[in-house]
Amino acid sequence: MPTFVHTDKCDGCKGGQVTACMYICPNDLMKLDTIRMKAFNQEPDQCWECQCCVKACPQQAIEVRAFQDWVPMGGAVIPLRTDNAIMWTIKFRDGEIKRFKFPVRTTPVSSIDCYGNKPAPGDLNDQRFFTEEGKELPRIS
Ligand code: SF4
Ligand code: SF4
Repeated sequence: MPTFVHTDKCDGCKGGQVTACMYICPNDLMKLDTIRMKAFNQEPDQCWECQCCVKACPQQAIEVRAFQDWVPMGGAVIPLRTDNAIMWTIKFRDGEIKRFKFPVRTTPVSSIDCYGNKPAPGDLNDQRFFTEEGKELPRIS
């Protein structure tokens, strides 16, 4: 079932041009009502509950109505992502709450130079792969 926004929590990402939920949704479903400065899911039937927007929202304003087979009525599963970990809050139907925290990276944020020692973008007609600089071009016979 699709996401919905708790409008009392949403602050429109403080007026940014592209909100966190708009930026992260792989299906471009989240939209900002620029008059009310509240986000909403503009096409709920296209939402595949990937939870990306839920994890990205800095206000924890987005929730997914989970299917009954893994979250029975009255329960909830809520992710919260930080720079180095993700916390899952599990609410059981009897009111019990459990939290599970998992690390999501082993290096400091922005410490990885993924293009280090790699050639700069170059000739689009060059048939070699990005990592094959210096190798001879394959011969076509
Ligand atoms: S990311 Fe959260 S706070 Fe920002 S616009 Fe979307 S729902 Fe609102
Ligand atoms: S759950 Fe995934 S597909 Fe649905 S609105 Fe959020 S980011 Fe988009």
